Amino acid sequence: MKLKEKTSFDNLVQEVIEKGLCNRCGGCVSFCSADRIGALEIGEDNFPRYADKEKCLECGICYLICPQTSILKEEVREEFGWRPPIGRYQDIFSARTTDEEILKVCTDGGVVTSLLLYMLENNLIDGAVVSKRVGLFSRKPIVATARSELMQAAGSQFSESSHLQEMGAEYTTFVPTIPIIREYAPKSFLRLALVGTPCQIEAIRKMQILKILPADVITFTIGLFCMQSFALDDLMKKKFTKKHQINLKDIVKLNVKEDFILTKNSGITVHIPMEEIEEIARPACLACEDFANNYADISVGGLGSPDVYTTVLIRTIQGKRIYTEALRQGYLEKKVEKTIGKSKAEKSRLLSLIEAFAERKRKRGEERLSKIIDEENPLERIYSKSEAV
Ligand SMILES: Cc1cc2nc3c(=O)[nH]c(=O)nc-3n(C[C@H](O)[C@H](O)[C@H](O)COP(=O)(O)OP(=O)(O)OC[C@H]3O[C@@H](n4cnc5c(N)ncnc54)[C@H](O)[C@@H]3O)c2cc1C
Ligand code: SF4
Ligand code: SF4
Ligand code: SF4
Repeated sequence: MKLKEKTSFDNLVQEVIEKGLCNRCGGCVSFCSADRIGALEIGEDNFPRYADKEKCLECGICYLICPQTSILKEEVREEFGWRPPIGRYQDIFSARTTDEEILKVCTDGGVVTSLLLYMLENNLIDGAVVSKRVGLFSRKPIVATARSELMQAAGSQFSESSHLQEMGAEYTTFVPTIPIIREYAPKSFLRLALVGTPCQIEAIRKMQILKILPADVITFTIGLFCMQSFALDDLMKKKFTKKHQINLKDIVKLNVKEDFILTKNSGITVHIPMEEIEEIARPACLACEDFANNYADISVGGLGSPDVYTTVLIRTIQGKRIYTEALRQGYLEKKVEKTIGKSKAEKSRLLSLIEAFAERKRKRGEERLSKIIDEENPLERIYSKSEAV
């Protein structure tokens, strides 16, 4: 790691925020070492900004942990034994919950909610950083410590009444869950699991490498596959609904697998290809290169699995232990193939699909970055072509 002297939030402004690469995860603000004296804050637009520049200690921590800088990338890769194209993994399955209640509300197979429930009920964690549904494109981060709270966070289905809570000019599927961890700083004996997108998990891993408190409270990570998060302002909402002939009020579920799937209250599903959905992607997401959540303990998505199943990529030894025990105790069941040959073929199909999506996202990110990175400003510290595999 080479850190230029006097690296500060100014570098993030120049290299990330002004380049349109900030995904508004809130990591920099949450872990600013001058937090108590207030150097940084989240602005009304949800982008980070100086609250008081005079208070900045120029420690560079905000810069180091930002998921959009690459200065700690090698360290993270080394720590997690990363290998191309989708990182380290031990095994892959299609699995689902055995809990009927979870199955009714979950996004795919309810594996995330069931794994968290298994960990809570077996006293392996004290809580889980998840996000509660409050509207169609709207969620709120919470630390769930009981089954009822996990159920409120499961899935992506919405009631009529939850639409009413959608206010403000922007609707987005991205939830800034990282800042909530800061509230747990005084209780660093806690053990929390965290569910997050690849950018969120990467920020956590960087904090853990730097041993920045309270990232040590995160003892287990479940990473969601992620092609992009979406954001709709009022103008885009009108354009999008007209083009696809949908009324957002009729939508009761949204999901992302091979394509973007909207379910209407009539039960009819509308499939929108990934390329077409890019028009409502958050701009920073189009420059992001991690699809398969490379540094999580377990990565999950709907991609490749049949309805009501989740694709589960086991990455770490701890991930394997948790998954295997949840299976053994009957929280989960895996999709069983008739023969060993079929099982092998199925695993290889799932892996090929994930690798193809990961490659597609990497290429898209590389193209987007090459447009952003001009020759005058090579930005050697954000993702660069030389790092792409
Ligand atoms: C923004 C986003 C993009 C995704 N893109 C893809 C994709 O391109 N391809 C693919 O195969 N899968 C994608 N997924 C993952 C997929 O939609 C399911 O979340 C995953 O398969 C788990 O399903 P499940 O039924 O096991 O989870 P459930 O048991 O339903 O639990 C879902 C968990 O995800 C958490 N969660 C929901 N939204 C967010 C969010 N915005 N940020 C952090 N945590 C959240 C909930 O709190 C809950 O704990 C994406 C998910 C999100 C949130
Ligand atoms: S004090 Fe450190 S973490 Fe906070 S803004 Fe300044 S450089 Fe960033
Ligand atoms: S991506 Fe996150 S850590 Fe980086 S500047 Fe934006 S809010 Fe801060
Ligand atoms: S594409 Fe997903 S992982 Fe990448 S910045 Fe957007 S939300 Fe984060």
